[in-house]
Amino acid sequence: MRDFAMPTKKAKSRGHVFRGEDLAGPLLTWLNSRRNTEGRIESLLDAYRRRRALTSENEIRAWETEVDGILGYYRLLPVIIGTNANQWLIDWRSTRKDSQSPESAALLKLLTLASQGLLANVRRCERPDCGTWFYQRFVHQKYHTEKCKFAVLAADPARKEKRREYMRDLRKLKKRLRNARKKTQKRR
Ligand SMILES: [Zn+2]
Repeated sequence: MRDFAMPTKKAKSRGHVFRGEDLAGPLLTWLNSRRNTEGRIESLLDAYRRRRALTSENEIRAWETEVDGILGYYRLLPVIIGTNANQWLIDWRSTRKDSQSPESAALLKLLTLASQGLLANVRRCERPDCGTWFYQRFVHQKYHTEKCKFAVLAADPARKEKRREYMRDLRKLKKRLRNARKKTQKRR
């Protein structure tokens, strides 16, 4: 056990950190890792999204039972990982032999984000051949990078047609300008 200082301010080096984004790190790492095959964390994310549509008490109770069923897999033990005069820093260790600690870390971040109402910000990139998990910074952000966003826009047929039209018009305009220039040169 070591003495530690509680973090007070967020590090500014990474630029602006959006609310909850700093928590999402281990969760995104787990979701995007190839070792992640059993999908418990994904099931919890899916359940979080489905909860919004539920209104009746029966539905909500059934949903809670389902979520408790997934959470029941985890066997977590609190351990002190550091203290100072006033505060304890606690971590949760899995007591399951088969469990991997990255999944426990992902679960804890997921539960924190869910308790703060921020878990819907954890989503998949909508570019068909990407699907990378990311933390949504803006309400309409659908893609995990600008690169994915532009790739989807460029592949959009309506947009392609517009671009073709634009290029055609541009060529016509250039031709007209060239011809006009030739005429004025001849007149001289
Ligand atoms: Zn992407």
